[in-house]
Amino acid sequence: MASIYQTGLAARKRAPAAVFIAVAIGMAAPAFAEDKPAVPAKAEISQEPASKADVKKAEASQIPRIAPDASTFQLSNGMTVVVIPDHRAPIVTHMAWYKIGAADDPAGKSGVAHFLEHLMFKGTKNHPAGEFSAKVSEVGGVENAFTTADATAYFQTVAKEQLGMVMGYEADRMEGLQLTDAVVLPERDVILEERRMRTDNNPAAQLSEAMDAALYQNHPYGIPIIGWEHEMAGLTREDAVSQYERYYTPNNAILVVAGDVTADEVKKLAENTYGKLPRRAEPGVRNRPKEPDPLAERSLVLRDQRVSQPSWSQSYLVPSYVSAKPAEAEALDILADILGSGPTSRLYRSLVVEQGIAGSAGSYYSGNGLDYGRLGFYAMPRGDVSLDKLSAAVDAVIAEVREHGITAEELALAKKRTRASTIYSQDSQSSLARLFGSAMISGQSLSDVQDWARRVDAVTLTDVAQAAAKYLDKRRAVTGTLLPAPVETRS
Ligand SMILES: [Zn+2]
Repeated sequence: MASIYQTGLAARKRAPAAVFIAVAIGMAAPAFAEDKPAVPAKAEISQEPASKADVKKAEASQIPRIAPDASTFQLSNGMTVVVIPDHRAPIVTHMAWYKIGAADDPAGKSGVAHFLEHLMFKGTKNHPAGEFSAKVSEVGGVENAFTTADATAYFQTVAKEQLGMVMGYEADRMEGLQLTDAVVLPERDVILEERRMRTDNNPAAQLSEAMDAALYQNHPYGIPIIGWEHEMAGLTREDAVSQYERYYTPNNAILVVAGDVTADEVKKLAENTYGKLPRRAEPGVRNRPKEPDPLAERSLVLRDQRVSQPSWSQSYLVPSYVSAKPAEAEALDILADILGSGPTSRLYRSLVVEQGIAGSAGSYYSGNGLDYGRLGFYAMPRGDVSLDKLSAAVDAVIAEVREHGITAEELALAKKRTRASTIYSQDSQSSLARLFGSAMISGQSLSDVQDWARRVDAVTLTDVAQAAAKYLDKRRAVTGTLLPAPVETRS
């Protein structure tokens, strides 16, 4: 799963401070050599502000917006289109998103959204299996698809002249997919094998699956995206087709095109391809079950002989950007950044540098879900330090922030890193398309995404203190420990 916020965090770790500084003083950062500077024109910044309000306004105008030239429109069949102009190279990334994810899998049919993602490559009335992929590779493009808890998406990156071609094929498989048992059943073996490779052969993935199941006591985020093996094994052609008929309709899709195109160009192409498709179904509102207020702290242990390095992790149930109250999700992003992002974070300084008990330690906020998010912590012991000791040390860092909040200096630095990550997030066309797609598929608006750094900049010390006090409550937490199993001795 990827999101603006995860992208932001990852970028923050990568982005050198110099990137931010270079752009802030009006020089083009290397990554944006051909692009519009991410800050307003110099004249606007250098105007002498006349009052405090003007100073604030001038400061706000220096906070970069993500893809300020992006725009959105709707086709007459209800399909939403987002265009993100990026003229640095003559290529485009075309990404078709559907509002159907693993959390929409019917009860007992876990894994069907992901199964359908695979089956979408099996050919249509007009184009046999493999033709679309062959065409993309023939023109030197790349393609793939992914399923999250809330969405399924298909994407291709091609030369700009090929945009009409991929739109034609993608529109075709939105309505013309043809599935027979002869193609469905072997593909079911493929997803079962994928599960074995990704989860069952990996104790850390098994533990994280069990932690999700414990964290979400009632919401389907507790069910693995790939599905439970015994349910996957029973998936049928009919299961896949009924999901396809219900959800793969233009009014349930968002098309994101990022690259060397204008909105007018995309509109013309979209009207000639997707625009010709009728609405096939009304999927209705996504009515997901809610979590009860958690009362019991949960703790899981997984021992496995394949584990060579013990590790510790903890997840707190928190809201997402969509479900949070104003400023709460932004405050959680800041909190995770200060507690555990990079070598200057509180966790790293305390556990790795000062106490020397951990080889690594950190925290993150996943806020891109439609219904819930997670505030995660992790640490790996150094030498033979026990996981109990590690856990107690993380607890102490968390207790400190719950009691005293963060400092003004920490807040200012975290905001500065957010601005840098906003700029850095625009470096990759496909991550931009993913960022806008994943946010908008969950109901956020174009400007919600564009103005993320501005909203983060408005977060106060009180916002962060309140978020820490409210959400870093042990009753909301699931702790997981991964340990090597003792080798069985035989007598
Ligand atoms: Zn897969």
